[in-house]
Amino acid sequence: MTPEMTETAASPFTNGAAYIDGRYMPIAQAAIPITDWGYRRSDVTYDVVGVWDGAFFRLDDHIRRFRASMEFLHLKPTESDDEIKAILERLVRVAGLRSAYVAMDCLRGVPRPGMPRHPAYCRNYLAAYAVPWVSVASAEMMERGLHLMIAETRRIPPESFEPRVKNFHWGDLTRGQFEAMEKGCDFAILLDAQGNATEGAGFNVFSITDGRVATPDRGALDGMTRMSMLELCEELGIPFEVRPVSAAELRDADEIFTCTTAGGVMPASRIDGRIMGNDRPGPISTRLRETFWAKRAQGWHATPIDYDKADP
Ligand code: PLP
Repeated sequence: MTPEMTETAASPFTNGAAYIDGRYMPIAQAAIPITDWGYRRSDVTYDVVGVWDGAFFRLDDHIRRFRASMEFLHLKPTESDDEIKAILERLVRVAGLRSAYVAMDCLRGVPRPGMPRHPAYCRNYLAAYAVPWVSVASAEMMERGLHLMIAETRRIPPESFEPRVKNFHWGDLTRGQFEAMEKGCDFAILLDAQGNATEGAGFNVFSITDGRVATPDRGALDGMTRMSMLELCEELGIPFEVRPVSAAELRDADEIFTCTTAGGVMPASRIDGRIMGNDRPGPISTRLRETFWAKRAQGWHATPIDYDKADP
């Protein structure tokens, strides 16, 4: 353990811990160079895995998606998948967090003097951190159901940037967030150029009509929570379809819910001002949310963290 890792309870690690390019540090000290293309050009990919009650959720799936994103973008950090997993676990352990938001980024790096200004010549590196659990939706929103709206802003098309690669090209999603705020809504759903739903700022979206759950087949991240919804629907015998979901279908849906690592299943109660059901989370969305957390409490897709392990 390095000197900066030996701090205890009331140390800066209580707010979180970070790892950047081979070094561990308290979260407040974590910084990246201002000239890094990861910052200047959003030339970076990332993933976020949740820790709940002392265990990672779908850790191997997150690492697999992270590796696929890095390969797609020609990013090559020195750390192997097993090393990344060990780093993430150590971050959670040193921060002493039972529930955490754990991010891993691979940045392009700083352009090297004398080399062509091409991303291929940068040295890529890994940055990761663990901070206390965060949720996209507030407790009040979860209780009453999200108030959603369909944004005017269209999602960046997959032909321009593949949304299955987790990325920081958030200009459209951020614009959608302000549109939602102007309309007094919680969150915006962005459509693609064809008028079909994609996703929102950090979440996947689902519509439910006549007992059938549908989620967009393109233009969105293959979310881990979305994959979990597919598994749960199969288990519960709820029909589940991955196909285009039009704006009209969303506006007429019996229920809508969104989902993400940072919050789990988040049922909605309004869409574009229309009240769905009794203005509260609908029955199928609620069943999925409850089953999701009940199964997680039983260790579903869990990788427990060894908090007593001694770090080098
Ligand atoms: N869509 C976007 C754009 C996201 O950023 C995220 C997660 O942060 C999701 C969907 C949900 O993915 P996951 O369930 O893997 O967290």
